[in-house]
This record gives sequence, structure tokens and C-alpha cells, in this order.
Amino acid sequence: MLDKQYIIKLLQLSGEKRTKLLQRSKEIKEETVGKKVYFRGLVEFSNICSKDCLYCGIRKSNTNVVRYQATDEEILDACRFAWKNNFASVVLQSGEISSLAFIKRVDGLLKKIKQLSNNELGITLSCGEQSKDTYKRWFESGAHRFLLRIESSNRDLYYKIHPENDKHSFKKRIEALGFLKETGYQVGTGVMVGLPFQTYADLANDLLFFKQLDIDMCGMGPYIEHEDTPLYQYQNQLKTKQERFDLTLNMIAVLRLMMPDINIAAATALQAIDPAGREKALSVGANIIMPNLTPCDYRKEYQLYEDKPCLDEDAELCRNCLEARIELAGSEIGYGEWGDSKHFYKRKS
Ligand code: SAH
Ligand code: SF4
Repeated sequence: MLDKQYIIKLLQLSGEKRTKLLQRSKEIKEETVGKKVYFRGLVEFSNICSKDCLYCGIRKSNTNVVRYQATDEEILDACRFAWKNNFASVVLQSGEISSLAFIKRVDGLLKKIKQLSNNELGITLSCGEQSKDTYKRWFESGAHRFLLRIESSNRDLYYKIHPENDKHSFKKRIEALGFLKETGYQVGTGVMVGLPFQTYADLANDLLFFKQLDIDMCGMGPYIEHEDTPLYQYQNQLKTKQERFDLTLNMIAVLRLMMPDINIAAATALQAIDPAGREKALSVGANIIMPNLTPCDYRKEYQLYEDKPCLDEDAELCRNCLEARIELAGSEIGYGEWGDSKHFYKRKS
């Protein structure tokens, strides 16, 4: 087990030693989860959000965003595309809403997605904090993975990037992760890398937090400032984008050493900094990629951060582009396979 001081050292590596770390992470990945990269078609089905996270471009108080909800038909079409193209899994992501209408809508969508795909499409949800009953209801209707980033495992830092109130409670966030596990989901969490006020020790603690929580999946991306958010005022205190990018790859590499058999996503935010960003993550420790299947007209209204890529790429184009990129990264695509977290099955048995 790596200790905190050693993790901090690894996170700070540069030059040849860093290259060795990245190389080792790739080897461990290939030995444990293999060379395949799995697709999760991402459908950002609504940007309506009841929260005000201080970093996020679609936070409730940002009135420059035109709010949308994709129709059932649009969402199901995107899922059908994923299924027909052998993506095997989709991720439904949205702002955080906990009204009964929303809960029912997601529930209905889950059943319809299972139906349209002969029960074949795997479904990951990423719809924020919900009650245990809601998580259970969605699980029973067909979702089997859930992504809920802790954003930062340091309570003090958490409240520097979220308003300190009941709606953004650190304790509830941790509780929600527990509910997800108890319900039986494959649980994914993660953090943003390069946040204002964040230290190497914070990031090392984040990795230890993942280990302690015994997560199945992880998504970590660089923090990218957005002009219409309160955190933008600290833009001059940030690491450069390249530094945040490099540090994210180091985080992925160290996590792969610590938790060899989990699924690690190549976060889209990497691509907002480097056009080949996601492929670079795949050639280190990551093994999951989430091609964007959100209907094109909505994409410009789902800008969590600046320079979000693929704003006007349609789904077909997106697939061709990704195939070429993944081959370039020296990996193969696990078409038609769920590519579930090996760690999850080990944990269960
Ligand atoms: N509302 C859900 C899902 C959508 S947000 C939720 O919050 O869980 C998905 C992720 O986008 C968040 O977990 C956060 O880590 C990331 N994100 C938001 N704003 C960002 C920014 N400015 N830079 C990088 N990532 C950001
Ligand atoms: Fe809403 Fe998620 Fe953005 Fe927070 S991070 S404001 S919950 S969409």
C-alpha cells in the first residue's frame, strides 16, 4: 500500500522519472484489465440543475445558459445509436434534480432503454445526489453503474468550491456514495485536478479516499475555469492548463498502481486542453472513454467548463473519429462488451 508521502512524491514527478511512472501504469493496466478500451455513449439529457457548485458552467444561478430537457425520443434515439454501433453501454448525465417528476422520468427512460436494446445496453447514471429509495428504484429499473464524484475529499476544500449549505453538504455527498454501494451499483467517483486552493497533499488524500471507499470506477479530469462562475475570480492563482493536464495523467497513473483492477475513464475535460488528451490518458492508466451522443443542438448549453470539445460533431462522425484515435493510442475497442469493473466482481465474490 502506497503511503501519503510517497504518493505526493509520485504526483510531482517530471521528466524521465515521470515517463517511467506512466509506463509502469500502462503495464499494470494491460496485465490486469487488458488492452481493451470500452465505450460509454454519453447522453447529457438535461442541463436543468438545482445546485450552485461554484465551478460549474450550468450552475443554477448562471442565467446565460438556455435550459433544456431532451425529449424521450431524442434520448432513446441516441441510445439506439449506441446499441446499433455496439457501444454496449450508455451514460445518462444531467444536472441534479430530485423532483418526483424527474425521478419518474429517469425511471421510465431506463425501462425503455432496456426494452429497445433487448436488455443488452448497460446503463450508467450520473444524476447527482438522490435519496436511497431513488437510487434503489433506478437500480431495479436497469441502471447498474453510477458516477458521483466527490470533487474533493477534503471537507475544507469542498466548501471552498461549493456553497456551505444544506443543498451542498459534504456529509450528504459521502452518505450518497454509501447508499449507492449498499444498493448494489458499481460505484464511480472522482475529483477535479488543479482546483484553486488544492494541494498535492489533498490529491494524495483523494487517492487514499478512493482506496478506502473501495470504488469500482473513477473519473478524474482537470479543473477548467468557466467565466460565468464564482471560482473564475481565482483564475490567476491556478496552475497552467498544461500543468493541470500533466498532473491529471499522474493522478491516473498513481491510481492505477493503487487500484489495478478498477475502470478508469479518460475524462472529456482532458480534451479541452489537448486535442489528443483522452488518448493520452488511454495510453497511461485509463480504459474507458465516453463518446458524446448528446443531440448536437443541446451541446452548447451543456458547457460545464470552457473549450468543451465536440460541440458540433454528430454521433457517426464521433465514432469514426474515436476509432482512429484509439488505434493511434495502441489500444483496441471492446465493441459489444459491457467491460464492467473487474474490481466490482472481485469485491462481490
Ligand atoms: N450534476 C451531476 C452530473 C453532471 S456534472 C453531478 O454533479 O454529479 C459532472 C462533473 O462535471 C462533475 O462531477 C464535475 O467534476 C465536472 N465539472 C463541473 N464543472 C467543471 C469544471 N469547471 N471543470 C472541470 N470539470 C467540471
Ligand atoms: Fe449541477 Fe452537477 Fe454542475 Fe453541480 S456539477 S452545478 S450538481 S450540474
